[in-house]
Amino acid sequence: MSDDLLPKDHRLDEATPQEATITVAPETGFGLHDSEWSEDQWSELIVSFVENGMASWRELAALILGHLNPSQTGTSLASSEGFKRRYGKGNTMRIVMDWAYAQTGQCEDCGSRLELQADHVEGRELFEDPLDADYIENMTLRCRRCNVVRRPSHELGGQTFLTAESALMWILLVIKPRTLMDFIRLCRIYGMTMADIRMQEAWAMAHWLSRNEPPLYGIEDDENTSYDLLLWPTGEITRIDVGADIPNEAERLYQNVRGDHSFVFLAVGDDGRKTLFKYPLSWIAFSTYDLGQMPPYALAVRYTQPDRKNGAPQRITPLAPVGMELSSHVVVAPDEKIMLEIGGTLLGGSRTEAPAATHNGKLLPAKHQKRDVWLDVEPA
Ligand SMILES: [Zn+2]
Repeated sequence: MSDDLLPKDHRLDEATPQEATITVAPETGFGLHDSEWSEDQWSELIVSFVENGMASWRELAALILGHLNPSQTGTSLASSEGFKRRYGKGNTMRIVMDWAYAQTGQCEDCGSRLELQADHVEGRELFEDPLDADYIENMTLRCRRCNVVRRPSHELGGQTFLTAESALMWILLVIKPRTLMDFIRLCRIYGMTMADIRMQEAWAMAHWLSRNEPPLYGIEDDENTSYDLLLWPTGEITRIDVGADIPNEAERLYQNVRGDHSFVFLAVGDDGRKTLFKYPLSWIAFSTYDLGQMPPYALAVRYTQPDRKNGAPQRITPLAPVGMELSSHVVVAPDEKIMLEIGGTLLGGSRTEAPAATHNGKLLPAKHQKRDVWLDVEPA
């Protein structure tokens, strides 16, 4: 994830999650699963939008009316080269409108009347000459949502109800990520494969709503807040509010750590090699969200873009020290030095400044790999 280049999150005039007491979306208990929402929950969401000034009934009505209008269902066909070639320019519009009037007016897949588009039954890609797909018996009506989720780029097609574009706002308003990083991670575990920039763009809504009066959203003020750090049995590291209750299986590794500090650790891989990692607190995922059937630490992951050229799907892999042995760890302030203690004092050990590390990890130099090494902090 290109998270080193993310824009600054919390700004002075913005509310924090604690200050934003109005929630514009119902509390659900379903986690990251919009497909399990009932009609009542969707209704609650929309009523809440109106009550909190996110949108007015008039605006919503205008949107729906616009999407009921089957604009382009006929003209898009009549203007296509394949139709003009087959039926002749003068006849196409009449043939197309005869076809349109004879339809049910509902999406072939889901029955929706909104945002209908003319779509091929047998896609153009199945024809040697793509324009041969353009004949009236080969057309059907499908809503834009169903059209989009059928595309190969929508990897969770069918598993979720919303398109990525809608889900961006649903995740933001319902799950309420506290940081942009967590928002991006939520989108990834939801199944979105688009570039980070789409989430950065959507995150503008968080900034706008957190400056609303009264605030309708809260963005974490990491630099001026402290956290407890948790270690989960499988090795995930997450943060929570100081003193918050934790599940039995989690271990409170550090208490009351300032958000401008970093968690630095050495982990040993299967091959016995030692890697140094540095996680700024503000980068560490929260385990405070309702993720439904997913574990609370589900955001402690890294995302790799799918490789469409080679047909490799997106990958979501757990962050270190998952799968490694956590051998030594410290918490450091921005002006403190991270030191490596090498070998025991009895054996003539030494002490040296640790190499610079990031969340991607840095292998310790070869000369340190075969010795006992642990971390220490030197005050500024
Ligand atoms: Zn549909």
